[in-house]
Amino acid sequence: MRKGDTQEIRRLNRRAILQSLRQAPATRADLARTTGLAKSAVSRLVEELLEEGLLEEGEVRPGELGRPGVLLRLKPQARYALGAELGVEGTVLLAVDWRGEVLWSQEWPHPKEEGVEVRLEALKEAVRPRAEGALGLGITLPGVVAGPRLLFAPNLGWRDLDLSLKGFPIPVAFENDAKASALSEVFFHGEENLAYVVLSTGLGVGVVAEGRLLRGTHGAAGEVGHWTGGGRAPCRCGRRGCLETELGLQNLLAHHRALGGEAEDLDTLLALAERGEEAAMKALAHLGEALGRFLANLAVAYDPARVVIGGRAAELFPYLEAPLRAGLRKAAFLPVHQNLPVYPSAYGHLAPAVGGASLFLARFFELGGLWAESPRRNGGPYEEVALGFRHGFGA
Ligand SMILES: [Zn+2]
Repeated sequence: MRKGDTQEIRRLNRRAILQSLRQAPATRADLARTTGLAKSAVSRLVEELLEEGLLEEGEVRPGELGRPGVLLRLKPQARYALGAELGVEGTVLLAVDWRGEVLWSQEWPHPKEEGVEVRLEALKEAVRPRAEGALGLGITLPGVVAGPRLLFAPNLGWRDLDLSLKGFPIPVAFENDAKASALSEVFFHGEENLAYVVLSTGLGVGVVAEGRLLRGTHGAAGEVGHWTGGGRAPCRCGRRGCLETELGLQNLLAHHRALGGEAEDLDTLLALAERGEEAAMKALAHLGEALGRFLANLAVAYDPARVVIGGRAAELFPYLEAPLRAGLRKAAFLPVHQNLPVYPSAYGHLAPAVGGASLFLARFFELGGLWAESPRRNGGPYEEVALGFRHGFGA
């Protein structure tokens, strides 16, 4: 056997053990059973992983035939990655440990006219003191991302930018916000068929079909906010009648004002909804119903098993849910789509940044925890985490 083969087998076996422990704590005997590896191999690899500080031993559990076993689990915070969202309203930066726990997060607003250089510079400053020990930084944007290029982000007014960065102290990868959010669901919950809807100022969807993220030829798959319809309202992309002009949350505020409401921003609207203000409830019901129809369309486009609602709309979900389900029931094509499971994102508005961090966390598991300092030695450029999935994502 060549040396490369031995290394590859070691990687695969370590990956199998780590993946098994991601599901639940287990004894060495459990691991031998779930991974199909010999007990001696499991013991050797577990020792290795304990020494590297990736695992920890817990309580003793009585085993089969009365032989007790020590429960092993992934050590909390043993590894973590940074994620950032360059959003329309501001920047979010956070750290997520390899078990999915958000360790810390910070957010800052920025003036609308601020360009990409200024925003990346501010991000770099914020990252520098917190980069030590992080696997990498995944940055998400509300636009079409293709490798290190941003083709178009209408709501930021950015077009055709080279994002290959110098000066970040850790490896950096870029991804569209909805796609990164969808990937984080795959990574943390193992979804095979999923549509992740990000609805804030803009509307986008990240689709995972049969375990793979849909990107399309130019990375534009999922930019459904720019489906054109019969409307005439101008869109930030320069055209008219895009779906986003109807479903985007700026239109929710406009509708609220048209109904006599006075909310200037979403926080105010949310507070009004909590008090049951009539105009707020009406505007939210209207949006919910329209979202339900939109989901009926998504169901025939992609037929997901589950839809997650993220972005600022996740916070509005309690008010959107009933009209959304009613709208979906009315518009569904197949009877089975009438009850398509729809949930708000568990990470709320932090989801895109968590998705950014998960690009690196997924890569770490993929490599069986054999992480090297150099991107090349980790199997290629980090973009392949987001773009290639040569071994199948989270497999
Ligand atoms: Zn548009």
